Amino acid sequence: MKKRTRVTHLPEVEVPSDNRPLVAPVFQSVKFTFDDVAETERYFEGRRAGFYYSRVSNPTLRQLETALADLQGRDACLLTGSGMAAISASLLALVKQGDHVVYFAEMYQPTRSLIRRVLGRFGVTSTLLSIDDLAGLERVLGERPTRVIVFESPTNPVLKIADIPRITELARRHGALTLLDNTLAGPHGHGGLDLDLYVHSLTKYVSGHGDVMGGAVIARAELIQQLRSDLTLLGPTLDPHAAFLMLRGLRTYFVRREVQCRGAQRIAEFLRTHAAVERVSYPGLPDDPGHALAARQMEDFGSIIRFDIVGGSPAGTKFAEALELFAIAASLGSTESLVVPPAMQQPRDLTSTQRTWSAITPGTVRLSIGVEDPEDLVADLEQALASSQT
Ligand SMILES: *Cc1c(COP(=O)(O)O)cnc(C)c1O
Repeated sequence: MKKRTRVTHLPEVEVPSDNRPLVAPVFQSVKFTFDDVAETERYFEGRRAGFYYSRVSNPTLRQLETALADLQGRDACLLTGSGMAAISASLLALVKQGDHVVYFAEMYQPTRSLIRRVLGRFGVTSTLLSIDDLAGLERVLGERPTRVIVFESPTNPVLKIADIPRITELARRHGALTLLDNTLAGPHGHGGLDLDLYVHSLTKYVSGHGDVMGGAVIARAELIQQLRSDLTLLGPTLDPHAAFLMLRGLRTYFVRREVQCRGAQRIAEFLRTHAAVERVSYPGLPDDPGHALAARQMEDFGSIIRFDIVGGSPAGTKFAEALELFAIAASLGSTESLVVPPAMQQPRDLTSTQRTWSAITPGTVRLSIGVEDPEDLVADLEQALASSQT
């Protein structure tokens, strides 16, 4: 054969069956082939194992799906190219024209826009509530058949804790599905609760290093089976190399998370006593309104802190710009510490009443604590708080 043919039909390298790599290689292949058509047909009929096309399934993705489902205490998982893809694709697979969705003012802003603006365009109706308003939730569920309740706990960015057992109980009573965006609690969180679907932005704690995006939908097998055929058509799949990097991140997930949570506790306690800080929201603080619930339903208190700075948005900008170890950036859960100043997170899509529910004030700052030494972070916060008040 000529060279140009040989480079498109590369030699296969056999790894002997008694000689395996400790880290599974990336299956960076779009296609998988069987030796004959009969075996391919058996695969399509579900009568044999294997892979055919990576938008549908891929061994590297399968390894990550299995690990994440196990961590979340469920039996199946679907991976997507971002957290928003996990949320949008699962909602598109669950709802149809005329269905009603309940969601909350405290949620991640793009999720709110997706439900109101994008799903609204397809005739899906929705009701926005405060996550604190369980009486309102019960009333709405009693008044209108509801397909799915979409919520977060802790909420991003103000760290309210949802009463998950109460919400799932109301949902069961009224025949609604529950979809929890579990990104802030992490894939090891909330597994014992009676939730139907978990979605995650793997971009955050699982990637852990701020260099790869991904998302996951995790649920019991028959629900994932139901979603899988629609998700295959919507096509938001994760690339195998991204899945490989996620698997690498996952190996140190607990080690990073423990260090981050310990650092966040130390920093929340420091902020609480500071004169330039009006209030701190961190579920690990014993007097936080969400503390008792978080202690009951979470595995840890997370690494995100919200506080309101004295002097509002101008002081928040000065503070963020004076920080040396915290980068002004979106995202969270990485090895490096990050800050979002008030000017970057005002909920412009909400009415003034809904803004009150959102609990974002003109001085709301969000911190994501990394794996640096907490005493260095405290010193940096101390000098930046001082310069914010000048
Ligand atoms: C970041 C985030 C998302 C979106 O994830 P991407 O991977 O950026 O698409 C969704 N929900 C929450 C709570 C998030 O923090």
